[in-house]
Amino acid sequence: MPPTEPASPKPRLLTGDTPTGRLHLGHWVGSLENRVAMQDEYDCFFIIANAHAFTTRADQPEAIRQSVLDIALDYLAAGIDPQRSTIFVQSEIPAIAELTFFFAMLVPFGRLMRNPTLKDEIRDKQLGDNYSFGFLLYPVGQIADILAFRPKLVPVGEDQLAHLELTREVARRFNQYYCGIDPRTADADYVKAGGLFPIIEPKLGRVRRLVGTGAPNADGQLLKMSKSLNNAIFISDTPDTVRKKVMAMYTDPKRLRATDPGTVENNPLWIFHETFNPDQDWVRSAEEKYRAGAIGDVECKKKLVDVLTALIEPMRRRRLDFEKEPGHVLAVLREGAARANVVAAETLRLAKQALRQAY
Ligand code: ATP
Ligand code: MG
Repeated sequence: MPPTEPASPKPRLLTGDTPTGRLHLGHWVGSLENRVAMQDEYDCFFIIANAHAFTTRADQPEAIRQSVLDIALDYLAAGIDPQRSTIFVQSEIPAIAELTFFFAMLVPFGRLMRNPTLKDEIRDKQLGDNYSFGFLLYPVGQIADILAFRPKLVPVGEDQLAHLELTREVARRFNQYYCGIDPRTADADYVKAGGLFPIIEPKLGRVRRLVGTGAPNADGQLLKMSKSLNNAIFISDTPDTVRKKVMAMYTDPKRLRATDPGTVENNPLWIFHETFNPDQDWVRSAEEKYRAGAIGDVECKKKLVDVLTALIEPMRRRRLDFEKEPGHVLAVLREGAARANVVAAETLRLAKQALRQAY
């Protein structure tokens, strides 16, 4: 008898991260704080998508392994509770790879190549023409990461919306081709009508796209904070590192003295204050002074160091405790894989039935 899905009264939630580094403040406001808050309401599955890390660093397996462990530690440090939530590594779930193959047939090639998230990544990570075939395949793999769990909710940052749209298209097409669902069916009714896969609504975090600490690109756009772009403040950074990063962060380049009028808009210093400072009255009055040339960058940056340290330091300390017992992290990942495999294997079984390929 194959293991059957335990009936959980809670709806499922799926989201995750690529192990290309440690988690940063963009993850916190874009997704992580939502995840921590929703553990009671949802049956949460958090995937560490290690196969996707190979799309840009196939030559660095040891670094990918370290990042997997780092991200698991970051989850625990941020307050994800493995008793309530499932943390697992993608490559431990064979059903995901099998589903990827079938889903790949449902994605038109041209549609994939127009995907704006892929285009942005190729530009921002300076991949040029040197990306692998697997890099193009990763959005399809991500569809399988998600649909293997048939979740109700997928919390993501704004850069993932294009991938989520592709996921919705594939789910509709699969349900139409293989479950006999009428294409005119409303998205919310696909499962009720007998479809296997839900048409998922993405859930954006409080901040859709946090910028990094660096200067804008050639188009004048501030880049998103990203593990791979060397512009991130990590939730595991020491107070000293946080201070150095904030003091060196990009602000208004035209402002040379504290008495020069400054620009608040599109200025990471103020984006960070608006995002993280609990004292928004101070932020508004300091922004006015900044505009008027009545307050210095250094004073505002020092304030930001205090704000960010207060957020990060408790997480960093919890992380240090978990780091002392590496066996615990591995046990969490193994236990998570066992739970995730029960759900994903059941999805694959149902998918093969729908595909008429159950033999
Ligand atoms: P990489 O540079 O390797 O792509 P990343 O920093 O973009 O890493 P991902 O693992 O790709 O992180 O993203 C994990 C999740 O965090 C996704 O839902 C993504 O949308 C969200 N996220 C990442 N960066 C930000 C950000 N700066 N602001 C808001 N959300 C973000
Ligand atoms: Mg990314």
